[in-house]
Amino acid sequence: MSDVADIVVVGAGMVGAATALQLQRLGRKVILVDRREPGSETSYGNAGVISGLNIQITIPREPLQLAQLLLNRVPYFRQNLFALPSNLPWLWAFWRASSDSNLWRIALQSQPLFSTAIAEHLCLASLSRASHLLHDVGYLSIIRDKTKLSTISRDKRLALACDYPFRIISTEEIAELEPFVKPGAAGGLYWPGTYHTPAPDQLAKAYAEALVRFGGEFRQMSVTNLGRHKSGAWDVESLNDTIQSRNVVISAGPWSKGLLEPLGYNLPLGSKRGYHLHFRPKDGAHLTRPVKDDEYGFVLSPMNQGIRLCVGVELDHFDAPARDMLVQGAIGPARELFPIGESLDSTPWLGRRPTFPDQLPMIGAAPNHKGLWFNFGHGHYGLTLGPTSGKLLAEMMDNRVLSMDPVPFAPLRSFRPSAALKSTG
Ligand SMILES: Cc1cc2nc3c(=O)[nH]c(=O)nc-3n(C[C@H](O)[C@H](O)[C@H](O)COP(=O)(O)OP(=O)(O)OC[C@H]3O[C@@H](n4cnc5c(N)ncnc54)[C@H](O)[C@@H]3O)c2cc1C
Repeated sequence: MSDVADIVVVGAGMVGAATALQLQRLGRKVILVDRREPGSETSYGNAGVISGLNIQITIPREPLQLAQLLLNRVPYFRQNLFALPSNLPWLWAFWRASSDSNLWRIALQSQPLFSTAIAEHLCLASLSRASHLLHDVGYLSIIRDKTKLSTISRDKRLALACDYPFRIISTEEIAELEPFVKPGAAGGLYWPGTYHTPAPDQLAKAYAEALVRFGGEFRQMSVTNLGRHKSGAWDVESLNDTIQSRNVVISAGPWSKGLLEPLGYNLPLGSKRGYHLHFRPKDGAHLTRPVKDDEYGFVLSPMNQGIRLCVGVELDHFDAPARDMLVQGAIGPARELFPIGESLDSTPWLGRRPTFPDQLPMIGAAPNHKGLWFNFGHGHYGLTLGPTSGKLLAEMMDNRVLSMDPVPFAPLRSFRPSAALKSTG
Protein backbone atom coordinates (compact mmCIF):
# COMPACT_ATOMS: atom_id res chain seq x y z
CA MET A 1 0.00 0.00 0.00
CA SER A 2 3.05 2.33 -0.06
CA ASP A 3 2.01 3.98 -3.33
CA VAL A 4 -1.50 4.59 -2.04
CA ALA A 5 -2.07 8.24 -1.22
CA ASP A 6 -3.43 9.31 2.14
CA ILE A 7 -5.95 11.91 0.91
CA VAL A 8 -7.05 13.18 -2.49
CA VAL A 9 -9.11 16.38 -2.48
CA VAL A 10 -11.18 16.75 -5.67
CA GLY A 11 -11.72 20.39 -6.61
CA ALA A 12 -9.35 23.29 -6.03
CA GLY A 13 -11.80 26.13 -5.61
CA MET A 14 -11.65 28.09 -2.37
CA VAL A 15 -13.24 25.20 -0.48
CA GLY A 16 -10.97 22.43 -1.80
CA ALA A 17 -7.74 24.47 -1.66
CA ALA A 18 -8.44 25.60 1.92
CA THR A 19 -9.49 22.09 2.99
CA ALA A 20 -6.28 20.61 1.56
CA LEU A 21 -4.17 23.18 3.44
CA GLN A 22 -6.07 22.62 6.71
CA LEU A 23 -5.52 18.85 6.40
CA GLN A 24 -1.84 19.43 5.81
CA ARG A 25 -1.64 21.62 8.94
CA LEU A 26 -2.74 18.53 10.87
CA GLY A 27 0.11 16.56 9.35
CA ARG A 28 -1.78 14.74 6.61
CA LYS A 29 -0.38 14.08 3.15
CA VAL A 30 -2.66 15.59 0.52
CA ILE A 31 -2.96 15.55 -3.26
CA LEU A 32 -5.23 18.34 -4.51
CA VAL A 33 -6.66 17.75 -7.98
CA ASP A 34 -8.59 19.97 -10.37
CA ARG A 35 -9.26 19.94 -14.09
CA ARG A 36 -8.27 23.63 -14.19
CA GLU A 37 -5.92 25.98 -12.34
CA PRO A 38 -6.89 26.45 -8.65
CA GLY A 39 -9.56 29.11 -8.11
CA SER A 40 -10.68 29.29 -11.75
CA GLU A 41 -14.40 28.57 -11.42
CA THR A 42 -16.98 29.92 -8.95
CA SER A 43 -14.18 30.95 -6.61
CA TYR A 44 -12.90 33.32 -9.29
CA GLY A 45 -15.99 35.37 -10.01
CA ASN A 46 -17.52 36.29 -6.67
CA ALA A 47 -17.81 39.68 -4.95
CA GLY A 48 -14.85 39.06 -2.63
CA VAL A 49 -16.86 39.57 0.56
CA ILE A 50 -15.68 37.63 3.62
CA SER A 51 -18.42 37.93 6.22
CA GLY A 52 -18.48 36.96 9.87
CA LEU A 53 -22.29 36.81 9.82
CA ASN A 54 -24.69 34.56 7.91
CA ILE A 55 -26.80 37.18 6.15
CA GLN A 56 -29.30 34.95 4.36
CA ILE A 57 -30.64 35.46 0.87
CA THR A 58 -34.17 34.11 1.01
CA ILE A 59 -37.32 33.56 -0.95
CA PRO A 60 -40.59 35.35 -0.05
CA ARG A 61 -43.28 33.38 1.77
CA GLU A 62 -46.25 35.59 0.86
CA PRO A 63 -48.04 34.23 -2.26
CA LEU A 64 -48.14 37.60 -4.08
CA GLN A 65 -44.44 38.31 -3.58
CA LEU A 66 -43.59 34.74 -4.50
CA ALA A 67 -45.64 35.00 -7.71
CA GLN A 68 -43.85 38.25 -8.61
CA LEU A 69 -40.52 36.51 -8.09
CA LEU A 70 -41.41 33.47 -10.19
CA LEU A 71 -42.85 35.69 -12.94
CA ASN A 72 -39.46 37.43 -13.12
CA ARG A 73 -40.75 40.79 -11.82
CA VAL A 74 -37.91 41.15 -9.28
CA PRO A 75 -34.79 42.84 -10.75
CA TYR A 76 -32.16 40.43 -9.39
CA PHE A 77 -34.02 37.13 -9.85
CA ARG A 78 -34.79 35.11 -12.95
CA GLN A 79 -36.38 31.70 -13.30
CA ASN A 80 -36.35 30.08 -16.74
CA LEU A 81 -39.95 28.86 -16.87
CA PHE A 82 -38.95 25.96 -19.15
CA ALA A 83 -36.59 24.76 -16.38
CA LEU A 84 -39.23 25.16 -13.65
CA PRO A 85 -40.43 21.50 -13.71
CA SER A 86 -36.89 20.21 -13.07
CA ASN A 87 -36.10 22.97 -10.53
CA LEU A 88 -39.41 22.59 -8.68
CA PRO A 89 -38.44 19.92 -6.08
CA TRP A 90 -35.41 21.98 -5.00
CA LEU A 91 -37.39 25.23 -5.08
CA TRP A 92 -40.14 23.70 -2.96
CA ALA A 93 -37.61 22.41 -0.39
CA PHE A 94 -35.89 25.81 -0.38
CA TRP A 95 -39.22 27.60 0.12
CA ARG A 96 -40.20 25.27 2.97
CA ALA A 97 -36.84 25.84 4.69
CA SER A 98 -37.31 29.62 4.42
CA SER A 99 -39.82 30.23 7.20
CA ASP A 100 -38.72 32.96 9.58
CA SER A 101 -38.28 30.60 12.51
CA ASN A 102 -36.32 28.06 10.49
CA LEU A 103 -34.02 30.71 9.00
CA TRP A 104 -33.37 32.08 12.45
CA ARG A 105 -32.49 28.62 13.77
CA ILE A 106 -30.20 27.95 10.77
CA ALA A 107 -28.49 31.32 11.12
CA LEU A 108 -27.73 30.75 14.80
CA GLN A 109 -26.61 27.15 14.26
CA SER A 110 -24.22 28.14 11.47
CA GLN A 111 -22.79 31.13 13.30
CA PRO A 112 -19.74 29.24 14.71
CA LEU A 113 -18.67 28.58 11.11
CA PHE A 114 -19.06 32.27 10.22
CA SER A 115 -17.62 33.79 13.38
CA THR A 116 -14.31 31.97 12.85
CA ALA A 117 -14.16 32.55 9.07
CA ILE A 118 -12.07 35.73 9.03
CA ALA A 119 -9.56 34.45 11.61
CA GLU A 120 -9.07 31.22 9.62
CA HIS A 121 -8.52 33.18 6.40
CA LEU A 122 -5.96 35.41 8.13
CA CYS A 123 -4.14 32.33 9.38
CA LEU A 124 -4.09 30.51 6.01
CA ALA A 125 -3.23 33.71 4.16
CA SER A 126 -0.20 34.32 6.36
CA LEU A 127 1.00 30.73 5.73
CA SER A 128 0.42 31.36 2.02
CA ARG A 129 2.22 34.70 1.74
CA ALA A 130 -1.14 36.19 0.77
CA SER A 131 -2.01 38.46 3.71
CA HIS A 132 -1.94 41.42 1.31
CA LEU A 133 -5.04 39.94 -0.39
CA LEU A 134 -7.21 40.34 2.71
CA HIS A 135 -8.50 43.86 3.36
CA ASP A 136 -10.13 44.97 6.60
CA VAL A 137 -12.45 47.51 4.95
CA GLY A 138 -16.01 46.55 5.92
CA TYR A 139 -19.07 46.25 3.72
CA LEU A 140 -21.64 48.88 2.83
CA SER A 141 -25.27 48.33 1.95
CA ILE A 142 -27.03 51.29 0.35
CA ILE A 143 -30.70 51.65 1.26
CA ARG A 144 -32.87 53.69 -1.12
CA ASP A 145 -36.16 53.26 0.78
CA LYS A 146 -36.31 55.32 4.01
CA THR A 147 -38.70 52.94 5.80
CA LYS A 148 -36.23 50.07 5.39
CA LEU A 149 -33.52 51.94 7.29
CA SER A 150 -35.31 51.64 10.60
CA THR A 151 -36.91 48.22 10.02
CA ILE A 152 -35.68 45.60 12.44
CA SER A 153 -34.77 43.03 9.81
CA ARG A 154 -33.51 39.50 10.51
CA ASP A 155 -29.97 40.60 9.60
CA LYS A 156 -29.99 43.35 12.21
CA ARG A 157 -31.56 41.07 14.85
CA LEU A 158 -28.94 38.42 14.10
CA ALA A 159 -26.08 40.91 14.26
CA LEU A 160 -27.36 42.14 17.62
CA ALA A 161 -27.76 38.57 18.92
CA CYS A 162 -24.25 37.61 17.78
CA ASP A 163 -22.59 40.88 18.74
CA TYR A 164 -21.50 41.43 15.12
CA PRO A 165 -20.88 45.14 14.59
CA PHE A 166 -23.10 47.21 12.26
CA ARG A 167 -24.24 50.83 12.07
CA ILE A 168 -27.14 52.54 10.36
CA ILE A 169 -25.47 55.47 8.64
CA SER A 170 -26.62 58.72 7.05
CA THR A 171 -25.90 59.91 3.49
CA GLU A 172 -23.19 62.19 4.90
CA GLU A 173 -21.46 59.21 6.49
CA ILE A 174 -21.77 57.27 3.21
CA ALA A 175 -20.01 60.17 1.50
CA GLU A 176 -17.20 60.04 4.06
CA LEU A 177 -16.71 56.29 3.54
CA GLU A 178 -17.19 56.29 -0.24
CA PRO A 179 -16.87 59.80 -1.70
CA PHE A 180 -17.72 58.62 -5.24
CA VAL A 181 -21.02 56.95 -4.34
CA LYS A 182 -23.66 59.36 -5.65
CA PRO A 183 -26.04 60.94 -3.14
CA GLY A 184 -29.74 60.13 -3.31
CA ALA A 185 -30.10 57.11 -1.07
CA ALA A 186 -31.99 57.27 2.22
CA GLY A 187 -28.94 55.96 4.09
CA GLY A 188 -26.98 52.80 4.56
CA LEU A 189 -26.02 49.86 6.70
CA TYR A 190 -22.32 49.63 7.42
CA TRP A 191 -20.69 46.37 8.53
CA PRO A 192 -17.19 47.36 9.73
CA GLY A 193 -16.13 43.81 10.72
CA THR A 194 -16.44 42.35 7.22
CA TYR A 195 -13.34 41.71 5.09
CA HIS A 196 -12.80 41.92 1.35
CA THR A 197 -10.41 40.44 -1.17
CA PRO A 198 -9.84 42.07 -4.55
CA ALA A 199 -8.62 38.71 -5.97
CA PRO A 200 -10.53 35.67 -4.67
CA ASP A 201 -9.01 33.44 -7.37
CA GLN A 202 -5.48 34.48 -6.36
CA LEU A 203 -6.30 33.74 -2.73
CA ALA A 204 -7.41 30.17 -3.57
CA LYS A 205 -4.33 29.79 -5.77
CA ALA A 206 -2.07 31.00 -2.96
CA TYR A 207 -3.56 28.35 -0.60
CA ALA A 208 -2.93 25.65 -3.21
CA GLU A 209 0.63 26.91 -3.75
CA ALA A 210 1.28 26.85 0.01
CA LEU A 211 0.12 23.24 0.06
CA VAL A 212 2.75 22.38 -2.54
CA ARG A 213 5.45 24.45 -0.82
CA PHE A 214 4.88 22.53 2.42
CA GLY A 215 5.16 19.11 0.73
CA GLY A 216 1.69 18.44 -0.72
CA GLU A 217 0.88 18.04 -4.39
CA PHE A 218 -1.38 19.69 -6.93
CA ARG A 219 -2.29 17.65 -9.98
CA GLN A 220 -4.30 18.86 -12.95
CA MET A 221 -6.75 16.11 -13.85
CA SER A 222 -10.41 15.91 -14.72
CA VAL A 223 -11.94 13.24 -12.52
CA THR A 224 -14.28 11.02 -14.52
CA ASN A 225 -14.96 8.27 -12.00
CA LEU A 226 -14.53 7.28 -8.36
CA GLY A 227 -13.99 3.55 -8.17
CA ARG A 228 -13.30 1.16 -5.32
CA HIS A 229 -10.00 -0.74 -5.58
CA LYS A 230 -10.03 -4.31 -4.23
CA SER A 231 -7.66 -3.23 -1.42
CA GLY A 232 -10.47 -0.97 -0.15
CA ALA A 233 -8.74 2.19 -1.36
CA TRP A 234 -10.37 4.58 -3.83
CA ASP A 235 -9.41 4.86 -7.48
CA VAL A 236 -9.68 8.50 -8.46
CA GLU A 237 -9.76 8.21 -12.24
CA SER A 238 -9.37 10.54 -15.19
CA LEU A 239 -9.06 9.52 -18.84
CA ASN A 240 -5.27 9.11 -18.59
CA ASP A 241 -4.44 8.98 -14.88
CA THR A 242 -5.53 7.11 -11.74
CA ILE A 243 -4.62 7.93 -8.15
CA GLN A 244 -5.22 5.34 -5.47
CA SER A 245 -6.07 6.89 -2.14
CA ARG A 246 -7.36 5.79 1.26
CA ASN A 247 -9.51 8.93 1.53
CA VAL A 248 -11.22 11.15 -1.01
CA VAL A 249 -12.71 14.56 -0.24
CA ILE A 250 -15.28 15.87 -2.69
CA SER A 251 -15.01 19.67 -2.88
CA ALA A 252 -16.08 20.15 -6.46
CA GLY A 253 -18.59 22.92 -5.72
CA PRO A 254 -21.63 22.71 -8.02
CA TRP A 255 -20.17 19.68 -9.81
CA SER A 256 -20.10 17.61 -6.60
CA LYS A 257 -23.63 16.33 -7.16
CA GLY A 258 -22.76 14.89 -10.59
CA LEU A 259 -19.57 13.25 -9.27
CA LEU A 260 -21.49 11.52 -6.48
CA GLU A 261 -24.57 10.37 -8.39
CA PRO A 262 -22.91 7.19 -9.76
CA LEU A 263 -22.22 6.18 -6.12
CA GLY A 264 -25.95 6.38 -5.32
CA TYR A 265 -26.12 9.84 -3.72
CA ASN A 266 -29.03 11.89 -5.00
CA LEU A 267 -28.39 15.09 -3.07
CA PRO A 268 -30.69 18.14 -3.20
CA LEU A 269 -27.86 20.41 -4.34
CA GLY A 270 -29.21 23.23 -6.48
CA SER A 271 -27.27 25.83 -8.46
CA LYS A 272 -28.08 29.48 -7.97
CA ARG A 273 -26.54 31.04 -11.04
CA GLY A 274 -25.02 34.51 -10.74
CA TYR A 275 -23.16 36.91 -13.02
CA HIS A 276 -20.51 39.57 -13.08
CA LEU A 277 -19.18 42.17 -15.50
CA HIS A 278 -16.16 44.48 -15.00
CA PHE A 279 -16.21 48.21 -15.61
CA ARG A 280 -13.60 50.92 -15.74
CA PRO A 281 -14.49 53.63 -13.19
CA LYS A 282 -15.02 57.09 -14.70
CA ASP A 283 -12.93 60.19 -13.98
CA GLY A 284 -10.63 58.64 -11.40
CA ALA A 285 -13.50 57.42 -9.20
CA HIS A 286 -12.77 54.48 -6.92
CA LEU A 287 -14.37 52.30 -4.27
CA THR A 288 -12.63 51.18 -1.08
CA ARG A 289 -15.03 48.37 -0.22
CA PRO A 290 -17.86 46.34 -1.76
CA VAL A 291 -21.09 48.33 -1.95
CA LYS A 292 -24.45 46.62 -2.23
CA ASP A 293 -27.60 48.20 -3.61
CA ASP A 294 -30.27 46.77 -1.35
CA GLU A 295 -33.17 47.43 -3.71
CA TYR A 296 -31.67 46.14 -6.96
CA GLY A 297 -29.68 43.37 -5.28
CA PHE A 298 -26.34 43.98 -7.00
CA VAL A 299 -22.89 44.50 -5.50
CA LEU A 300 -20.21 46.80 -6.89
CA SER A 301 -16.88 45.42 -5.76
CA PRO A 302 -13.40 46.89 -6.29
CA MET A 303 -11.36 44.10 -7.90
CA ASN A 304 -7.93 43.89 -9.49
CA GLN A 305 -9.68 43.74 -12.89
CA GLY A 306 -11.80 46.87 -12.31
CA ILE A 307 -15.18 47.52 -10.67
CA ARG A 308 -16.97 44.16 -10.63
CA LEU A 309 -20.76 44.37 -10.93
CA CYS A 310 -22.06 41.15 -9.34
CA VAL A 311 -25.70 40.38 -9.75
CA GLY A 312 -28.38 37.80 -9.84
CA VAL A 313 -29.92 34.64 -8.64
CA GLU A 314 -30.96 32.71 -11.72
CA LEU A 315 -32.56 29.27 -11.73
CA ASP A 316 -32.16 27.39 -14.97
CA HIS A 317 -30.87 24.10 -16.32
CA PHE A 318 -27.36 23.47 -14.96
CA ASP A 319 -25.62 23.84 -18.34
CA ALA A 320 -27.92 26.45 -19.89
CA PRO A 321 -25.95 29.19 -21.66
CA ALA A 322 -25.27 32.50 -19.91
CA ARG A 323 -27.93 35.14 -20.53
CA ASP A 324 -27.27 38.80 -20.01
CA MET A 325 -30.64 40.23 -18.92
CA LEU A 326 -29.85 40.31 -15.18
CA VAL A 327 -26.57 42.11 -15.79
CA GLN A 328 -28.11 44.46 -18.37
CA GLY A 329 -30.94 45.25 -15.94
CA ALA A 330 -28.44 46.19 -13.21
CA ILE A 331 -26.20 48.49 -15.27
CA GLY A 332 -28.61 51.48 -15.18
CA PRO A 333 -29.16 51.42 -11.39
CA ALA A 334 -25.42 50.78 -10.90
CA ARG A 335 -24.64 53.93 -12.89
CA GLU A 336 -27.07 55.88 -10.66
CA LEU A 337 -24.99 54.74 -7.68
CA PHE A 338 -21.42 55.05 -8.91
CA PRO A 339 -19.72 56.48 -12.04
CA ILE A 340 -18.86 53.37 -14.04
CA GLY A 341 -17.53 53.84 -17.56
CA GLU A 342 -17.32 51.30 -20.34
CA SER A 343 -17.46 47.58 -19.72
CA LEU A 344 -14.11 45.77 -19.77
CA ASP A 345 -15.53 42.34 -20.70
CA SER A 346 -17.24 41.36 -23.93
CA THR A 347 -19.66 38.97 -22.18
CA PRO A 348 -20.81 38.49 -18.58
CA TRP A 349 -19.13 35.82 -16.47
CA LEU A 350 -21.50 33.11 -15.20
CA GLY A 351 -21.01 31.21 -11.93
CA ARG A 352 -23.08 28.63 -10.06
CA ARG A 353 -23.49 28.85 -6.29
CA PRO A 354 -23.85 25.26 -5.04
CA THR A 355 -26.80 25.52 -2.65
CA PHE A 356 -28.74 23.12 -0.42
CA PRO A 357 -32.32 24.05 0.55
CA ASP A 358 -31.17 25.22 4.01
CA GLN A 359 -28.25 27.15 2.44
CA LEU A 360 -25.71 25.37 4.65
CA PRO A 361 -22.75 23.36 3.36
CA MET A 362 -22.49 19.60 3.73
CA ILE A 363 -19.39 18.77 5.78
CA GLY A 364 -18.55 15.28 6.99
CA ALA A 365 -18.23 11.58 6.20
CA ALA A 366 -20.24 10.17 3.30
CA PRO A 367 -23.10 8.16 4.80
CA ASN A 368 -22.56 4.96 2.84
CA HIS A 369 -18.85 4.81 1.88
CA LYS A 370 -15.83 4.55 4.14
CA GLY A 371 -13.02 6.95 3.26
CA LEU A 372 -15.29 9.28 1.28
CA TRP A 373 -15.82 12.79 2.65
CA PHE A 374 -18.00 15.75 1.65
CA ASN A 375 -17.28 19.47 1.76
CA PHE A 376 -19.49 21.37 -0.68
CA GLY A 377 -22.73 23.36 -0.96
CA HIS A 378 -21.51 26.69 0.44
CA GLY A 379 -24.03 28.71 -1.58
CA HIS A 380 -23.51 32.45 -1.29
CA TYR A 381 -20.60 31.99 1.15
CA GLY A 382 -18.01 29.61 -0.27
CA LEU A 383 -15.28 32.25 -0.37
CA THR A 384 -16.03 33.15 3.24
CA LEU A 385 -16.35 29.61 4.57
CA GLY A 386 -13.63 27.66 2.71
CA PRO A 387 -11.00 27.79 5.50
CA THR A 388 -13.37 27.28 8.41
CA SER A 389 -15.35 24.41 6.84
CA GLY A 390 -12.02 22.93 5.71
CA LYS A 391 -10.79 23.07 9.29
CA LEU A 392 -13.90 21.31 10.61
CA LEU A 393 -13.62 18.53 8.02
CA ALA A 394 -9.88 18.13 8.69
CA GLU A 395 -10.61 17.72 12.42
CA MET A 396 -13.20 15.04 11.65
CA MET A 397 -10.89 13.15 9.30
CA ASP A 398 -8.02 13.27 11.77
CA ASN A 399 -10.17 12.24 14.77
CA ARG A 400 -9.46 15.50 16.58
CA VAL A 401 -11.59 17.30 19.12
CA LEU A 402 -14.01 19.31 16.97
CA SER A 403 -13.87 23.08 17.17
CA MET A 404 -17.66 23.32 16.71
CA ASP A 405 -20.83 21.28 16.57
CA PRO A 406 -20.89 19.57 13.14
CA VAL A 407 -24.58 18.51 13.29
CA PRO A 408 -26.04 21.45 11.29
CA PHE A 409 -23.77 20.50 8.37
CA ALA A 410 -24.22 16.72 8.57
CA PRO A 411 -24.63 14.87 5.27
CA LEU A 412 -27.48 12.90 6.88
CA ARG A 413 -29.47 15.94 7.92
CA SER A 414 -33.04 16.28 6.80
CA PHE A 415 -34.08 19.38 4.87
CA ARG A 416 -37.56 19.38 6.38
CA PRO A 417 -37.84 22.34 8.75
CA SER A 418 -37.21 21.30 12.37
CA ALA A 419 -37.16 17.58 11.54
CA ALA A 420 -34.71 15.34 13.39
CA LEU A 421 -31.64 13.88 11.67
CA LYS A 422 -32.40 10.66 9.93
CA SER A 423 -30.16 7.87 8.69
CA THR A 424 -30.33 6.47 5.18
CA GLY A 425 -28.81 3.27 6.53
C1 LIG B 1 -21.91 36.30 -8.51
C2 LIG B 1 -21.41 35.61 -7.27
C3 LIG B 1 -20.99 36.37 -6.18
C4 LIG B 1 -20.55 35.72 -5.01
N1 LIG B 1 -20.05 36.49 -3.98
C5 LIG B 1 -19.55 35.87 -2.86
C6 LIG B 1 -18.95 36.63 -1.83
O1 LIG B 1 -18.83 37.87 -1.93
N2 LIG B 1 -18.51 35.99 -0.72
C7 LIG B 1 -18.60 34.64 -0.59
O2 LIG B 1 -18.21 34.11 0.46
N3 LIG B 1 -19.10 33.88 -1.59
C8 LIG B 1 -19.58 34.46 -2.73
N4 LIG B 1 -20.10 33.71 -3.74
C9 LIG B 1 -20.17 32.24 -3.58
C10 LIG B 1 -18.81 31.61 -3.77
O3 LIG B 1 -18.16 32.12 -4.90
C11 LIG B 1 -18.97 30.08 -3.91
O4 LIG B 1 -19.74 29.58 -2.83
C12 LIG B 1 -17.60 29.41 -3.86
O5 LIG B 1 -16.76 29.93 -4.85
C13 LIG B 1 -17.74 27.90 -4.02
O6 LIG B 1 -16.42 27.40 -3.94
P1 LIG B 1 -16.12 25.90 -4.23
O7 LIG B 1 -14.68 25.68 -3.99
O8 LIG B 1 -17.10 25.05 -3.52
O9 LIG B 1 -16.49 25.74 -5.80
P2 LIG B 1 -15.64 26.15 -7.09
O10 LIG B 1 -14.89 27.41 -6.89
O11 LIG B 1 -16.57 26.09 -8.24
O12 LIG B 1 -14.58 24.99 -7.19
C14 LIG B 1 -14.93 23.70 -7.61
C15 LIG B 1 -13.72 23.16 -8.36
O13 LIG B 1 -13.98 21.79 -8.70
C16 LIG B 1 -13.37 21.55 -9.94
N5 LIG B 1 -13.99 20.37 -10.52
C17 LIG B 1 -15.30 20.16 -10.78
N6 LIG B 1 -15.48 18.94 -11.31
C18 LIG B 1 -14.25 18.37 -11.40
C19 LIG B 1 -13.79 17.12 -11.86
N7 LIG B 1 -14.62 16.21 -12.38
N8 LIG B 1 -12.46 16.85 -11.82
C20 LIG B 1 -11.59 17.77 -11.32
N9 LIG B 1 -11.98 18.98 -10.86
C21 LIG B 1 -13.30 19.26 -10.89
C22 LIG B 1 -13.67 22.83 -10.75
O14 LIG B 1 -12.77 22.96 -11.84
C23 LIG B 1 -13.50 23.90 -9.68
O15 LIG B 1 -12.20 24.46 -9.67
C24 LIG B 1 -20.55 34.31 -4.93
C25 LIG B 1 -20.96 33.56 -6.02
C26 LIG B 1 -21.38 34.19 -7.19
C27 LIG B 1 -21.81 33.35 -8.36
